[in-house]
Amino acid sequence: MAVGVHRVVIVGSGFAGLFAARRLEGAPCEVTVVDRRTYHLFQPLLYQVATGILSEGDVAPPTREVLRRQPNARVVLGEVVDVDAAARVVTARSPVGETALGYDSLIVAAGSAPSYFGHDEFAVHAPGLKSLDDALEVRGRIFGAFEMAESEPDPERRAAWLTFALVGAGPTGVELAGQIAELSRQSLRGRYRAIDPATARIVLLDGAPRILPAFDERLSARAADRLRELGVEIEPSAMVVGVDADGIDVQGSDGARRRLVTRTKVWSAGVQASPLGALLARRAGAALGRHGQVEVEPDCTLPGHPEIFVVGDLMSLDGLPGLAEVAMQSGLHAASEIDRRLGGDPRPRRFQYRDLGSLAAISRGYAIGQRGRVQVWGRPGWVIWLTVHLVFLTGFKSRVAALFHWVFSLFGRARYEQSTTLRQVTARTASPSRPG
Ligand SMILES: Cc1cc2nc3c(=O)[nH]c(=O)nc-3n(C[C@H](O)[C@H](O)[C@H](O)COP(=O)(O)OP(=O)(O)OC[C@H]3O[C@@H](n4cnc5c(N)ncnc54)[C@H](O)[C@@H]3O)c2cc1C
Repeated sequence: MAVGVHRVVIVGSGFAGLFAARRLEGAPCEVTVVDRRTYHLFQPLLYQVATGILSEGDVAPPTREVLRRQPNARVVLGEVVDVDAAARVVTARSPVGETALGYDSLIVAAGSAPSYFGHDEFAVHAPGLKSLDDALEVRGRIFGAFEMAESEPDPERRAAWLTFALVGAGPTGVELAGQIAELSRQSLRGRYRAIDPATARIVLLDGAPRILPAFDERLSARAADRLRELGVEIEPSAMVVGVDADGIDVQGSDGARRRLVTRTKVWSAGVQASPLGALLARRAGAALGRHGQVEVEPDCTLPGHPEIFVVGDLMSLDGLPGLAEVAMQSGLHAASEIDRRLGGDPRPRRFQYRDLGSLAAISRGYAIGQRGRVQVWGRPGWVIWLTVHLVFLTGFKSRVAALFHWVFSLFGRARYEQSTTLRQVTARTASPSRPG
């Protein structure tokens, strides 16, 4: 790195980090993006990787490739394990050892992780859907469940393999439920000899009284109707209080408990901030929000540390939700602030979030969306969903590949990515010969 040039370190190559890095193209600074992954992950489409529509490469272009034409940016693979706010040094760990990255400005965009509300032991049997590993594991479990059912002679055990429980009825749970329903009713038709995949039960549970609570009640009701048409069983006001290999324990609003016997569970009930938030709080004296996000000033900097920005899912500001759009806009804001300071204007500017609306795809050809008071649903919603996702997918190759897969599976009902190994089917439970 050239001596005297302003050094910007960006932790995280998610939406917030990558948009910040790209915004600094041509700025008089050197940008280092450090992440424990080599790629930028388009999380909103992970459910399509998990259900065999898209391949992992479609949603995860290498960060190095995305930034290849930006000479002032470099990419470092490593897990950030420390931030020394006094010395202005970030420490990243990799098999090579520990790398010290000095900075003049720091943007922390480390995102969030699934929250099991104090029951991390649930994760073994009910993986979340936050990473490529999760998506491939869930894909293995879903397609593997049909395989196990095909080989299982006992009707009760077979029914357990053919029951899928989605815990959490936000966009991820809803989108997964819709896709597993279409997979079982349409895409897998005629593929098995001993079972009829269409008999699969898909159960969507949530502690809240309705699905998609972030959407208007009428849109939420339309989405629920569409899911029921596909054969999804919706169980609102149902708290999951136990998860094991063979099923889940559910408590209703009346306090009564019951058991749902199911071999395949996916958890999308909550998120918590990356542990880097707590580290920053200790090292830079910041406060933490309810889910471990870092409380920031209106310009996204830490109190007393105008050189440290926290953006995206890790940021706690004005109750903004953990959305891709918030992450992109706050990442852009942090980078603009740095660029303006380098141009000689040190006055902080408030981050102002512009709500561009929300979308959720319920099934093939059916999505809901809202922006302010405007609501769309059905095919028009789906066309908007398709367009928005194509526009925001990073990289030309990813867009072309995703479009190809969408044409193939959404118009032709087939799934391009179904290959699964026994190791993926058993995944974290690693019990291929388990009798239960
Ligand atoms: C399944 C799913 C579906 C979603 N659907 C939608 C949707 O439909 N619409 C919407 O608006 N939003 C959606 N979201 C939310 C959206 O994806 C997030 O709000 C957004 O990704 C947050 O961006 P971010 O950059 O803050 O964090 P992330 O995208 O999570 O990126 C954080 C990055 O930091 C890296 N990192 C973390 N800790 C470290 C460390 N210690 N060292 C090095 N690197 C580290 C991670 O590897 C990661 O690359 C969805 C999220 C999920 C999981």
